[in-house]
Amino acid sequence: MTTTMTKGLLMVISGASGTGKGTVCKKLLDDIPEIFYSISATTRKPRPAEVDGREYFFISSEKFQTWIAEEKFLEYAEVYGNFYGTPAHVIEEKRNEGVDVLLEIDVQGALKVMEKCPDGVYIFLLPPSIDELCNRITNRGTESPEVLQKRIQSAKNEIDTGKKYQYVVVNDSVDAAVEKIKSIIAAEHCRTKNNLNLFRSIDR
Ligand code: 5GP
Repeated sequence: MTTTMTKGLLMVISGASGTGKGTVCKKLLDDIPEIFYSISATTRKPRPAEVDGREYFFISSEKFQTWIAEEKFLEYAEVYGNFYGTPAHVIEEKRNEGVDVLLEIDVQGALKVMEKCPDGVYIFLLPPSIDELCNRITNRGTESPEVLQKRIQSAKNEIDTGKKYQYVVVNDSVDAAVEKIKSIIAAEHCRTKNNLNLFRSIDR
């Protein structure tokens, strides 16, 4: 990083399952393609439209365990029976190049990253209502009623964790939620603590 370059932001977008994190992040990345999206590794099988190395690195459970042992993850978590992990090395590299990095991870993962990276920007997405959250979880899967009930209960429990984040954005409309996140990004770029290099570069 040159002395006049500002370090990129680490932005973590998280929220209970069913709050629409994936859709919001996709629109944000379409609008601001300069953001580096950190691709997670997962042991989950790809869904029909998913491509290895684009949505996720789809890896075996054995490989995932090896990566844990080699400390390749900034954090990892088990989410509904599959493992998901954030590869560590590329994040600092990109930030040092002045590039903003986006992580879209579950609540357990976000809490671990908060401990390790206190300079991150933590944004919690809230569903517009509990009814809407239940609808989204129910409409999305082919799971049994028991599994659905478990998911709905754990999503409700996760909502309280949102109080630990710096920002909360209600995802009532994707466009509106993305506009709010863009405002957060703009404000974070103007924080004095993120711009001390500008003071140094001003000739006095
Ligand atoms: P899905 O399988 O639907 O793509 O994702 C399931 C959940 O895993 C979502 O809540 C998603 O945010 C979360 N997730 C994706 N990548 C990671 C990761 O690297 N770490 C953690 N902790 N959660 C992740």
